[in-house]
Amino acid sequence: MGPGPSNVPPSVLNAMSSQTIGHLDPEFLILMDQIRSKLRQVFGTDNEVTIPISGTGSAGMETCLVNLLEPGDCVLVGINGVFGNRLRDVAERACATVTEVEQVWGRTFDVDQFREAANGKKFKLVCVVHAETSTGALQELQGFDDFADEVGALLLVDTVTSLGGVELNIDESGIDATYSGTQKCLSCPPGLSPVSFSDKALEVLSGRKTPVQSWYFDLTLITQYWGEERAYHHTAPINMLYGLHEALELILDEGLQNRAMRHLTNCQALIAGLQEIGLEMLVPESERLPSLTSVCIPPGMNDEQVRRQLLENHGLEIGGGLGPLKGKIWRIGLMGASSTSENVSFCLSALSEALRFQGF
Ligand SMILES: *Cc1c(COP(=O)(O)O)cnc(C)c1O
Repeated sequence: MGPGPSNVPPSVLNAMSSQTIGHLDPEFLILMDQIRSKLRQVFGTDNEVTIPISGTGSAGMETCLVNLLEPGDCVLVGINGVFGNRLRDVAERACATVTEVEQVWGRTFDVDQFREAANGKKFKLVCVVHAETSTGALQELQGFDDFADEVGALLLVDTVTSLGGVELNIDESGIDATYSGTQKCLSCPPGLSPVSFSDKALEVLSGRKTPVQSWYFDLTLITQYWGEERAYHHTAPINMLYGLHEALELILDEGLQNRAMRHLTNCQALIAGLQEIGLEMLVPESERLPSLTSVCIPPGMNDEQVRRQLLENHGLEIGGGLGPLKGKIWRIGLMGASSTSENVSFCLSALSEALRFQGF
């Protein structure tokens, strides 16, 4: 119940233990097509280029940035946690000029803050994190599409901790490029990063004047393997893809709306319980992320001792704070298969015990 990886259902682990076949085996090509089609459904998109990148969520982040940016391009990045910072770092390494839009960690942005920071200038990309796993804040995406148009930019959104856990429809939100990860709300082990690129993003890609600096993450080469040509680029992580296929099937069987509702209901139950214990949440009610809850550590409590006790006495992992929130919050994940009412009760009783032990 940390900030990911989440628990993996037995049927996903089972699927991953099937014999490894060739990356050009006709049966594998069928599986690839099924994965693309299921991913499109889960992302809520018709985008032709909707594929899993080999690597964790950060590989998807790099894929989006290095394919869409050329040296000297201007990027606007919202930073209200660890992952906005990472976006800026990767964009700068791609030799882009970054303008930051800052917000307090634990809060989300009003699109007008981006407008103010843009100051009438044009940009190539506007980047925002939908679900900030380092703080537990859920960004409202409405208005960002129009804003990106205003400044002549594509809209890039990090959906690592929202895909499969929070209502998401990238076409309706006007998102041009997005990346996610398998180990958060998809409940598959870490190792793949689903990405999706709109036609507008693909036009920007095909209009590049310089080659994509990364050979491994060059989307044009990767799509030649995932598309009609089936041209070998790198050996696909076959067994990870078996796992993703099964994980997506579980999600579509449950239904996207049911799944989002399950995440919301369990998160609300967790928060009600935490408040009953006497704990406070970091994020204001209207900005809370259903898949990850940040709870403030009460004064006098020993962060590491509590987490060690949960792990040693109960086999329960929760996350600590990062950066400026280190020692100030605990991060409790209710992602994918881990989001159950049993886990909520289990976590609440284990945490109460650990806090009581320290005199709370
Ligand atoms: C986990 C996470 C990432 C990075 O994913 P890795 O799998 O750790 O590389 C990026 N963005 C967000 C919001 C995340 O939660």
